[in-house]
Amino acid sequence: MNFGKAESPAPAAYVANSWLATASADFRISVRPRNLLYLRFEYRGIRMRCSVCGSTEFRSHDVLWEQLISDWQLAPDEVKYVNDQQGKSCNTCKANLRSIALADAIRSYFRTSLTLEEMNSETIFGEAEILEINEAGSLTTFLKSAPRYHFGAYPALDMHAIPYATGSLDLLVHSDTLEHIENPVHALQECHRVLKPSGALAFTVPIIVGRLSRNRSGLPRSYHGNASSMPDDFMVHTEFGADAWTYAMQAGFSYLELHSVGYPAGIAMLARKRAEA
Ligand SMILES: [Zn+2]
Repeated sequence: MNFGKAESPAPAAYVANSWLATASADFRISVRPRNLLYLRFEYRGIRMRCSVCGSTEFRSHDVLWEQLISDWQLAPDEVKYVNDQQGKSCNTCKANLRSIALADAIRSYFRTSLTLEEMNSETIFGEAEILEINEAGSLTTFLKSAPRYHFGAYPALDMHAIPYATGSLDLLVHSDTLEHIENPVHALQECHRVLKPSGALAFTVPIIVGRLSRNRSGLPRSYHGNASSMPDDFMVHTEFGADAWTYAMQAGFSYLELHSVGYPAGIAMLARKRAEA
């Protein structure tokens, strides 16, 4: 095709369509079967593996709804990764990316590369006193096999007054619960208090990495779930951003690890208490 003939300039739409046709043709010419094979190899090389059960098969579904996207003022790329965080999950054990990141934080505490499922059969949990507050995604099934496992449902368990003795637990786990707590730093101080020296808290909060955290006080009420059926216990008090880690430090934790899966979709933190505390 010749667009350069001065006597018959092509209409804009015609030019645009022709450009697309040209681009498409170029693509077909440049991508040969051998290259396609190479691309497939590259993809398989970074294939995600579920650290809960070991599966490499995942499925996705969108979980966000318009009201929450509007409340949270999410940009399209943020909608995509929050949907992955909550809705991209292992075909076998159903763990989503945030649960898999949380499993990575737990594996790091126990210094093992085994999956959570393997940790159970290998008795890696040993005598560790483990408290799970609220059901941490799909990890409950695997954690509750630990010999010294304890569970506290939120909001029955008050995170502003955790009913365990100071220095009594080795590992505390909660997932996407802290954003519903009125004073997250105080709740994290409580987590720090009940841990033994060298104990750790593995947790997730939904994090929007491109902004700073904000307290929703003074803003319209927002819920994770249907506002008409959700009690105020599930109202969101804090929208966490890139400074989410500072809350743990403010609460007295000395060391912090970040674990990511499909960054920035799944991010979990492992906050450790000082050994001599
Ligand atoms: Zn799995």
